[in-house]
Amino acid sequence: MTQPPAPLSPFDAAPARSAMEDPWHALPHEEVARLLEAPLGGLSPQEALRRLAAHGPNALPEPPGRSPLLRFLAQFNNALIYFLLAGALAALILGHHVDAGVIIAVVLVNAVVGFVQEGRAEQSLRAIRNMIAPQASIIRGSQRLSVAAHELVPGDRVLLEAGDRVPADTRLSLARGMLIDEAMLTGESVTAAKRSDPAAPEAPLGDRHSMAFSGTTVAAGQGTGIVVATGPRTQIGRIGTLMADVEPMVTPLLRQINAFARSFTWVVLIGGAALFLFAVLVRGYGWSEALMAVVALAVGLVPEGLPAVITITLAIGVRRMARRHAVIRLLPAVETLGATSIICSDKTGTLTRNEMTARRLFLPAGEGRTAEVAISGIGYAPEGELNWVGAGDPATASEALLRCALLCNDAHLRAENGHWLAEGDPMEAALVALAVKGGMVPAVERGAWERLDAIPFDAAYRFMAVLARGPSGETVIFVKGAPEAVLALCAGAAGEAGWNAAIDASARQGERVLGFAARRLAEGAPARLAVDSLDGLDFLGLVGFIDPPRAEAVAAIAECRSAGIGVKMITGDHGATAQAIARQLGLGESPLVMTGAQVDATTDADLVALAHATTVFARTSPENKLRIVRALQSTGDVVAMTGDGVNDAPSLKQADVGIAMGRKGTEAAKQAAEVVLVDDNFASIVAAVREGRTVYDNIRKMIAFTLPTNGGEVLGVIIAILLGATLPMSPAQILWLNLILSITLGLALAFEPTEPGTMERPPRPSHASLLTPFMLWRVAFVSILFMLATFGVLHLALSRGQGLEMARTLVVNTLVVMEIFYLFNVRFLHMRSITWQGALGTRAVLIALAAVVAGQLAFTYLPPLQAVFETRPVALLDGVMIIAIGVALMLVLEVEKAILRRLNIFAGEF
Ligand code: ADP
Ligand code: MG
Repeated sequence: MTQPPAPLSPFDAAPARSAMEDPWHALPHEEVARLLEAPLGGLSPQEALRRLAAHGPNALPEPPGRSPLLRFLAQFNNALIYFLLAGALAALILGHHVDAGVIIAVVLVNAVVGFVQEGRAEQSLRAIRNMIAPQASIIRGSQRLSVAAHELVPGDRVLLEAGDRVPADTRLSLARGMLIDEAMLTGESVTAAKRSDPAAPEAPLGDRHSMAFSGTTVAAGQGTGIVVATGPRTQIGRIGTLMADVEPMVTPLLRQINAFARSFTWVVLIGGAALFLFAVLVRGYGWSEALMAVVALAVGLVPEGLPAVITITLAIGVRRMARRHAVIRLLPAVETLGATSIICSDKTGTLTRNEMTARRLFLPAGEGRTAEVAISGIGYAPEGELNWVGAGDPATASEALLRCALLCNDAHLRAENGHWLAEGDPMEAALVALAVKGGMVPAVERGAWERLDAIPFDAAYRFMAVLARGPSGETVIFVKGAPEAVLALCAGAAGEAGWNAAIDASARQGERVLGFAARRLAEGAPARLAVDSLDGLDFLGLVGFIDPPRAEAVAAIAECRSAGIGVKMITGDHGATAQAIARQLGLGESPLVMTGAQVDATTDADLVALAHATTVFARTSPENKLRIVRALQSTGDVVAMTGDGVNDAPSLKQADVGIAMGRKGTEAAKQAAEVVLVDDNFASIVAAVREGRTVYDNIRKMIAFTLPTNGGEVLGVIIAILLGATLPMSPAQILWLNLILSITLGLALAFEPTEPGTMERPPRPSHASLLTPFMLWRVAFVSILFMLATFGVLHLALSRGQGLEMARTLVVNTLVVMEIFYLFNVRFLHMRSITWQGALGTRAVLIALAAVVAGQLAFTYLPPLQAVFETRPVALLDGVMIIAIGVALMLVLEVEKAILRRLNIFAGEF
């Protein structure tokens, strides 16, 4: 197809015209199509590329990010850092240049690590978000395509349906029952009804019924339109309302830590002041020396690295979840996932493969009886045959049903490398394959009928209807849908008992059952369909489909069971079908089923116990889902809920973790969800829960590491001051310890992999405090062990006459070695650490270890550092002794863990 010479295209003038009000809404859509050169079959790919080059991508300019300098400076905007800087200033004024320098180094290294890691985190979050960039359905080159929304150009023909986010400003050329939520543009909370006839030229935005505006959401119905403005030239782009998609990196846990760090700082300040006064007034230390010691202690105690390290841990969790196909849209979900105690999951496509094959047909056989036809063949391949179970000719008897199945259908089959694939809804594609097996040629049959109107499938009424004109001018309504819904539209109740028996027989095998009906209209009947005006149809029969469970879902459900997580199936499908599938998935021998109608008939109070006891919710409506989530949450359960439809948004928001389907989910569901499942797979939810638990564990490990080591460093010094004894370390040495340890070893824990047994523990209570009794015990116990080692080494060295400098060098090295061994203990909070895996460590641990050892060797043996920190080279035997102390610490802590476990103290924490 060749396009007219480009430069003359009137639409090239569009950018200039954008300064004034566009008249598109007031023009007939045929006129818009002519002006924008938008043929019915869509633009050619070449023309689309040309327009893309002329107009730029259909995207709003990114909100300006913070400049790197600002981001770097923000690292210092933190109460803990102010505190450290004040300490440095004090040291400088007192003439302790070395101490001041070390504190500044602590602050700088902290800021650089924070800056680099935060930048990496932001970058990877952006990349992950691109995994769920919105798509748009358009027609180009006479083909229906799904493209990234940013590739749209003026003149593109777009298809819109319920749940879609409108990708660009669009002049509607067709609108069927279309309602659009324009609140974000007009502030109007009532959805706007859309039509394709022109609106008044002076109509304000909210009254332009012929337009669909970029960024608004289709609440109901469907339509098609012509893109008239993209990117910054859309209404939303002109207002400059930039949709800030970048979420702040704040979570409840982070807030808890920040609050803790702030109050801890006050404790340290007051304690420090008291200690200073005591040192000078009671113990007679020189005030400048005492002040420096106290400042160093305070700097050592304050966990300044903790908030940054936790942010990094969360970002790593997000990255790991993305690798498992779960994209986190809102950061707090990382934590909540780890506490999830009930997962409510869709059936079709999430627990099952959503690869449908029609297995059998039930046709009317007169006098209220039904006849069954078995269908052979596998997958979507249109190869197989219909075998009458009994006598008769399936070809003629099934013709009416198969025609209905083909025409009340938007799907196609496509062959690729000898494989047959479904285009569109899998169940509808299976119907196309079925029709071929029954002897029909889809292209011929569909070509002979003209579609006049359609009611798309919606879970609210559970059927789809098409009005079509046939080869001899007759108009017929074709309906397919959930059998009860279709039967309800049929004339009389003749034979209903027979059909119900057939539905039951099929559903009990786990088959998805669909009913079909049609009605020939009298001449001159209106060419319009309405949901509530269908009646008097003739029932044509049933089709039963198989949709096998996903193998990985079976394993994931078993994993949930061991992890104490309840799994509930919430589906629009038939109760018997859902129950059979639930059994195949391992959700129980005869899992309890509740239907949407039963949920409706139950009071909120009664629903609490019922919802907990029920495993399968069938024929549910979106409102049912909302009430089920609330009922489950009312007992303190943390509920994850999946959803895909436009009406699922309320329940996704209500759930603690709303999970939208990436493939079959609507844009509306994705916007309401915290997590988007790229592969729609139940197993990915469970993988994300496992990562969520890992993140929480790692944060606890970091705290379990940081607090006692900080405490251990300074306890010896505090006691020395209280006793008026020799300080085991100089202020500069305390600062050094803090510098080298807080950033290296603590950070390594952020990268810890999932601990074995993580999914064999029950979920943590949703309001569990980070500082459990066990942790408090650990802080005290380890601090005391550190203190004992400090004094032991100091006195041993002094009594051997090795001199104060040598003694202090040994003390500092002992502390570092103990912390290294303690790190290995903390890495496994829940099990024995002396395993090969524990000893080998992760790459992050080994890198941190290498950095600490190198730093420590320099501190001890490098002359310039010896001069600054007043250290002495340690002899080989002393070195061996230091390492032996580390090993001893490890053994003591293992024995402690074993005893606590044996005595069942702090139960549940192992
Ligand atoms: P789920 O996805 O939970 O299995 P749905 O709400 O999608 O359930 O479907 C509920 C019922 O509606 C199905 O069991 C089927 O009978 C009917 N149905 C589903 N999709 C269609 C469709 N495209 N056209 C007609 N009926 C449908
Ligand atoms: Mg569905």
